[in-house]
Amino acid sequence: MQQYHAVKKQQPAALLLFRLGDFYELFYDDAVIASKLLQITLTSRNKEKGQQVPMCGVPYHAAENYIARLVRAGHRVAICEQMEEPGAGKKIVRREVIRVLTPGTATAATLVQEKENNFLAAIARGALAGPGGRARAQRAGASSAGQGSLDLGIAAASEPRAAIGLAYVDLSTGEFRATEFSGDKAEFRLRDEVGILRPREILLPKPRDLFPAAAPAEANGFGTVETQLDEWVFETNQASRLLEEQFRVAVLDGFGLLGHPLATAAAGAIVHYLRATSSIGAGKESTNGAGPSLRPSGTGLEHLDRIAYYEQQEAMALDAVTVRNLELLEPSAGDDASATLLSALDETATGMGARLLRRWIVRPEISLPEIEARLDAVADLRSRMVAREELFATLGQILDLERLTSRVTLGIATPRDLLALKSSLERIPRLRKLLAHGEAPISPANGFSPAPAAVASPAPRLESLAHEMDELADVHGLIARGIADDPPAIANDPGVIRRGFHAELDELRDITKQGRQIIAAMEDRERKRTGIASLKIRYNQVFGYYIEVTRPNLSQVPADYERKQTLVNAERFTSTELKEHERRILTAEERVIEIERRLYAEIRESIAREAPKLRRTAAAVGQLDVLVNFARLAGARRYTRPEFTETSLGVAKAEGIRDEGVREKEAPGRGVLMIASGRHPVIERLLEQQGERFVPNDLYLDEETQCLLIITGPNMGGKSTYLRQVALISLMAQMGSFVPATQARLPLVDRVFTRIGASDNLARGRSTFLVEMSEVAGILNTATRASLVLLDEVGRGTATFDGLSIAWAVVEALHAGARPRTLFATHYHELTELEQLLPGVRNVHVSVQEAGSEIVFLRRVEPGSADKSYGIEVARLAGLPPKVITRAREILRRHEQSEEKLTEELSPGAVPATPQQTSFAALDASVLEALREANLDALTPLEALNLLAELQKQLT
Ligand code: ADP
Ligand code: MG
Repeated sequence: MQQYHAVKKQQPAALLLFRLGDFYELFYDDAVIASKLLQITLTSRNKEKGQQVPMCGVPYHAAENYIARLVRAGHRVAICEQMEEPGAGKKIVRREVIRVLTPGTATAATLVQEKENNFLAAIARGALAGPGGRARAQRAGASSAGQGSLDLGIAAASEPRAAIGLAYVDLSTGEFRATEFSGDKAEFRLRDEVGILRPREILLPKPRDLFPAAAPAEANGFGTVETQLDEWVFETNQASRLLEEQFRVAVLDGFGLLGHPLATAAAGAIVHYLRATSSIGAGKESTNGAGPSLRPSGTGLEHLDRIAYYEQQEAMALDAVTVRNLELLEPSAGDDASATLLSALDETATGMGARLLRRWIVRPEISLPEIEARLDAVADLRSRMVAREELFATLGQILDLERLTSRVTLGIATPRDLLALKSSLERIPRLRKLLAHGEAPISPANGFSPAPAAVASPAPRLESLAHEMDELADVHGLIARGIADDPPAIANDPGVIRRGFHAELDELRDITKQGRQIIAAMEDRERKRTGIASLKIRYNQVFGYYIEVTRPNLSQVPADYERKQTLVNAERFTSTELKEHERRILTAEERVIEIERRLYAEIRESIAREAPKLRRTAAAVGQLDVLVNFARLAGARRYTRPEFTETSLGVAKAEGIRDEGVREKEAPGRGVLMIASGRHPVIERLLEQQGERFVPNDLYLDEETQCLLIITGPNMGGKSTYLRQVALISLMAQMGSFVPATQARLPLVDRVFTRIGASDNLARGRSTFLVEMSEVAGILNTATRASLVLLDEVGRGTATFDGLSIAWAVVEALHAGARPRTLFATHYHELTELEQLLPGVRNVHVSVQEAGSEIVFLRRVEPGSADKSYGIEVARLAGLPPKVITRAREILRRHEQSEEKLTEELSPGAVPATPQQTSFAALDASVLEALREANLDALTPLEALNLLAELQKQLT
């Protein structure tokens, strides 16, 4: 136990799996946690100072599975191995931690999800210095590594600005990126980015003081593990040095990190951490090894050979709240798991495609040329039905090239991984051929026999993807020649290398094979010679080859046998001849294993050298997969190609700047958002599955006459659905997908915001009115003219008049400010008055039909406001007693009267209501009463003053 405590001290934050014989044991708190999580029995061990020590264990051969479950549950796991064979003596076996696994550093297939990335992120906070501001920057905790002359444009002699660096890596794919945020929205934008990445683990500097001022909860709500590292790890100079070493370059400029000290610092912290967790056991072989995926050779980081700097503004921005509200990746509480945009759109054939689609969904494009290039490709694939289906089938035969490549460079690829790589590469020429050949679109006119004249050349994007794919004939050939057809699962077992690859190996194999035949022949001969029919020649690990004679036959043993071992029923012997064969066979076998291992390592290494090409190929295959997916969806679901009414985000992108005048008046229709017969891609499918039909709806928005829609109508009328379908259509279009509508003319959107009134998503348990309001504040602060804003029942989380007032003021503020295209669904009827007051505000409503006592939801969006809210009708349908309904109608009437008054007063130009007797009376009856009662004649001046003071006090 002493040894255990010593090891545990080095790994206090990890669950320590301590190897004891055939088990990994956990003790103390670790045991309690693990037994609960893994559902294994908690036992206890020899008392320590009179205390029972809780313990539990998992068999080492099945450990991988258990470890995976611990890591997936967000724990760090340290694996402590026996470093030598348990000897005959009683001395304690040497044990060491050979690896620490954490949620963010996992690479084994059992630990990562096929269709998701497994990100490890790091966040560095500090300041960006203006010229000459290095000293200050250093004081702020991040020096800028000789990059003091940051080009800050206008802010030439400015103070250092607070800034945040973010870096993230997926070890299983090798993707490594970094970015930086500065300015007063830095925290907001960081939170958005982290919300979208959803890293499994985040590295943060240890808080400087004991009571950090309400540390921002970066990791909130995504099951992310936070790991705190010493502050020096996040220091830019040290980070640059580490990164240069890791990428084997002299300067980091080539990665775009120049001038981004905090991005550099965050990336450096990641490399530091990866080295610290993975290199612990580097170069040490444990005697009875853990599975290969737990113990990569080397540091396992060789494949991290590059990083890319990026800017968040390069994509449409979606904050975490919007991602959740639109149910892009995950359904909201209580919903069907298939109720997400991702699952509605993901019919990709490969893990690479699935991961890319996921990335495109949360990071739609804002560059029109890129969007159009994708749309051209989708249009092309959509019309080439035969090729498209064949592409799809071929993609389905390609395994996860990206992760296979990483396993090769990590040094953990098994022989079967290499075969998978080979068979995947074999499909590449087919893909290229299918892409290269133009094919006439199949139109109803020419059926399935296209006229040769109509053959068109493929879309440029498809051509460039074909160009980027490389079948890597060398790699393919090497695997084909080098690896056996049916190799063992583990690289260290014999039989990995194919016959004919290496002459000496084949010779040695022959020797071992012949050797076995020779032994068999010798057994036969010795039986005859001795007359012992039961004589056997066998082999075991400890004693090698031996001749076994059972006890009754011992008298017949010839004199040239040497005794080796005595058993209960038999004796074991050897002979000079057997010893000679044994020597030959065993040396040959050893050599076979040695040569096989060496050859295998060489093969793996020479494939690893092709990693850049493999990765490029994997990326191209992934993108092709997504584009084929879009084309198939477009065909199967009647999606149409969106058109854009703007060519770039241009000036509108500059945050919060009103830009009339700057923007030249262009062709009419510029900036228009027009959707004909739009559908909600997810709900449409869910309804179809139930045999119901989705009712399509139109939408028109522009920048002047109609930029803010107020949508009223009864509960369950389809308001929220209408709002969301607009956002989803915009998003899909900017991903490069066709959209569910008969026609869609769209502006380029820089951001989508969605906010839902608190009571609508109470199920999340965190939706207080406060959260709702802070989210709305976020919109007012960050929305630009190019944004799309969806407000769904905002203001609902508080009392009616509060809520209405806030909603009203929010609409006014949006209108007076950036004036983004906005859809506001509300049950506050009063808001429909705004149509008259503010230009550009329009009312629409979801229609219902009253048929006798029934109301039927038509789900059609029509101009004008709903004539009433139908709440009482719905309540009646639900069976509220007639008495209650009648009374409700009465109360409603009264309320409606007082509301009319309210809107009159809020209207600009309306005369502010003068304080009248009535309102005075309402204010404070008791004051009036006191005044009336006061006998002025009898009061002294002092008493009069006192009374006055008293009355005033009551009023305030
Ligand atoms: P509201 O926000 O007005 O209360 P929702 O948008 O939540 O209404 O819609 C309620 C339900 O009506 C949805 O769950 C959906 O099943 C159905 N629905 C909404 N819009 C449509 C439509 N256009 N066609 C068919 N069904 C719809
Ligand atoms: Mg709703």
